[in-house]
Amino acid sequence: MEKLKERIVIAGLTAGFGEIGFARSRVLNQDIEFMADWISKERYADMNWLARNFERRGTPPEWVRTIIVAVKPYHPLEWNADEKRYSAFADGDDYHAAISAMLSGLLKEINTVGGRAKTCVDTSAIFEKAWAKEAGLGFIGKNKIFVSEKFGPFVLLGLVLTDLELPADEKKSNLNCGNCRLCIDRCPTSALDEFGLDVRRCISWMTIEKKSELSEEEKIIVGNRIFGCDECLLACPWSKKSLPSRRPTHLAISKRKPRMNTDKY
Ligand code: SF4
Ligand code: SF4
Repeated sequence: MEKLKERIVIAGLTAGFGEIGFARSRVLNQDIEFMADWISKERYADMNWLARNFERRGTPPEWVRTIIVAVKPYHPLEWNADEKRYSAFADGDDYHAAISAMLSGLLKEINTVGGRAKTCVDTSAIFEKAWAKEAGLGFIGKNKIFVSEKFGPFVLLGLVLTDLELPADEKKSNLNCGNCRLCIDRCPTSALDEFGLDVRRCISWMTIEKKSELSEEEKIIVGNRIFGCDECLLACPWSKKSLPSRRPTHLAISKRKPRMNTDKY
């Protein structure tokens, strides 16, 4: 299995991922508890799906033995101060499709030995960031963003669940935010505090996920932004580790309808 693991890592790096990690499947009790507490505070806004069966997100299916985490770094955009209109992850093709395609090389290696596998890219009921941490690749910051030890917070994650018992990475990241609170202080809407993220105040939710029209107050908060907000990533000292993206992987903003008062831009 060590050789197969090596081949999977090579397939991932060849596809353009920056790093590949391996974690043994288990129930992520601590993350489930955090989520239960967060849900009890009703901070999930209209994203009711987050509150439904949330225990499942920390409980991999029974057939899964190993969780492979692939990290794709990208680079923050060089914004002028007045032009922070959309998040850097949205600067390109749909990352869901791009990351899924990049994971196909890993699946091919698993298939060579008859292993079962399933990929997850941001839409599955699984704690992706927690698994990236579990694989020893970094930590979850006070902004609730995964911070890669190698590449900082500007990363996308792709997961492969498999029934193969691949050797888990022993190294665990013991990093955390410590006393830093730069992201909390930088957030323009005070959406972050010691309890994590209050989605109801988050510009990313307002411009990407919110189902109903923005309120007058929200329109003022959003200003000229049309898709997401990177302030709490840009504030993070770990963002200095960001690397230029080697391949376009991100969501073309033109495919989404702007959410709000277009007369501002
Ligand atoms: S995305 Fe923007 S609004 Fe949301 S928590 Fe981060 S800084 Fe605050
Ligand atoms: S800005 Fe500071 S507190 Fe926020 S995620 Fe980065 S290290 Fe953690």
